[in-house]
Order: sequence, then C-alpha cells, then structure tokens
Amino acid sequence: MRDVFGLASGRGGRVTGSLFMSNRNVVTFHYTLRDLQGRLLDTSSGGQAVSYLEGAGQIIEGLDEALKDVAAGVKQTVNVPAAKAYGDYDAEQVQRVLKSLLPVEGDLQPGDQFRAGEDQFAPIVKVVEVDGDHVVLDANHPLAGVDLVFEVEVVAVREANAEELEHGHAHQGEGECGSGQCGCKS
Ligand code: ZN
Repeated sequence: MRDVFGLASGRGGRVTGSLFMSNRNVVTFHYTLRDLQGRLLDTSSGGQAVSYLEGAGQIIEGLDEALKDVAAGVKQTVNVPAAKAYGDYDAEQVQRVLKSLLPVEGDLQPGDQFRAGEDQFAPIVKVVEVDGDHVVLDANHPLAGVDLVFEVEVVAVREANAEELEHGHAHQGEGECGSGQCGCKS
C-alpha cells in the first residue's frame, strides 16, 4: 500500500501541512546499462543525466522500485529481471503478414524497423525475414526477455513540486515547466 502521507515510514516530519503533500521525489541520475553477459546496451555517460518522478512510470518499473528513497551521491548496481524491465519475450508478437498490408513503401530488409501504425504510440516492429509477398515481423521491444544490470549514480534528489505531481512527470532543473520541453500543455 502506498504510504501517501509518509507516516508509516517515519517521514512524517516532512509533511508541511498540505493535505496533498505526497513526499514523492524527482531523482536525477546517470546510468550505464548492461546485460548479464556484461555487454554495454546504453549509457547516459557523456550526455545528459535522466530525471524522473518517482512512481510515475517514467523509467522501468524495477529501477523505479530499487531507487525508491535513494539519496543524492549514491552509486548502486541494480539488477532488473526482464519482467520488470521491458517484459518477457512474447512469441505471439512475431507474425507473418502480407507485405502489401504494411504502411511502408519500397523494399524491406531483415533488420528494418518501422512504426506499425500512424499513432505515435503504435509499436515499433522489426523485420525478421522477407519471404516473397510476406514478411515476418517482431513487435517485441528490442530488450524484451533481457535481464538488465544498471550501474546508477544518483546526481540529485529533490521533492517534486505541485505542478510535476499534477503532470505526472519530472521537469528540468528546479522543476519549472520548460517552454514545451516536457510536452506540457500549460
Ligand atoms: Zn509537465
């Protein structure tokens, strides 16, 4: 159960009088992501650190859980099983379809990727095989079924402000909603 007022965790001292005080933090961190074999998959090193609002689904579930109540300066290795990362590999997400039904022009090659629909949230599918009039497509996330190892360095932790809680995501810097940077309406 969510400890909305921070009482059960002994953090009641942070309640400032607002009934809607949430004690949710915005965490900023650098990460290096590897698989269990130690292969480098991704890193924020040399780029911008990642900021997210705790518990808002902005980062993968297993990492969000592991970093709950983390403090600035912490360096931590976090193992996240596939089920709590990009999901288990689902063989039913691999389908053989008629090429003429696809929203793409021109020749397709194995390894090509495209969005399966007009919608910006339509899944990205990968061409596994081309066979005459048909192609075999895989709609699994590229990291589906992969157990992940994150090396995390927490750069900053601050309380989320009311606007961030309302929007359900972190804002840059001190939490001002940037000019369209986060895609906010306000
Ligand atoms: Zn926003």
